[in-house]
Amino acid sequence: MTELKITPYDQNIEISCTITGLWFYSHASKAWAALHVDGRALTLLPVSTRPRQAVQLFRSRKHWVLFAGCGTRVNARPVYGGLHIVQDRDAIQPDGAYPLFLSTRKVPRVEAFPGQERNVFCPRCKLTLEPGCDAVQCPNPDCSTWSHQHEDLPCWSYDEGCAACGHPTAMDDAGWTPEDL
Ligand SMILES: [Zn+2]
Ligand SMILES: [Zn+2]
Repeated sequence: MTELKITPYDQNIEISCTITGLWFYSHASKAWAALHVDGRALTLLPVSTRPRQAVQLFRSRKHWVLFAGCGTRVNARPVYGGLHIVQDRDAIQPDGAYPLFLSTRKVPRVEAFPGQERNVFCPRCKLTLEPGCDAVQCPNPDCSTWSHQHEDLPCWSYDEGCAACGHPTAMDDAGWTPEDL
């Protein structure tokens, strides 16, 4: 068994999608890691195996579509027809590699606040969010509130939950672990 090499490509292509990150469980570090996927495709290739074992994932508007390589298993079963729509909690196992457990939970990430027509106030400190300042948008689609996240005002990470809705603020929380399955 070997760790996976994950190669995102098409980094420059911007498309709208409800999923901005994929989570995977690293057996080497025994921890979840978030993989931010800015492009629309990535390849999973077991280290030290042949390209025909590679698994490819392509992003459509709403889903990730998996193209199985030689010997790929999803949730311990062969992929009939070689095609699979990725679901939350899928265990994807390229031939000869540890399974990759995917969570499609949106990943909180620090980005420049794009600004909005009206003044926006941070739910934690109640101060205005200036366009361009480092901030985090709550991944909960029913909330989507922006909070500061920079040296002077680490408002998003200040507490365990979003100040507006309580959604976990951890940057490495996939919502579940493989042990839960
Ligand atoms: Zn704030
Ligand atoms: Zn929230």
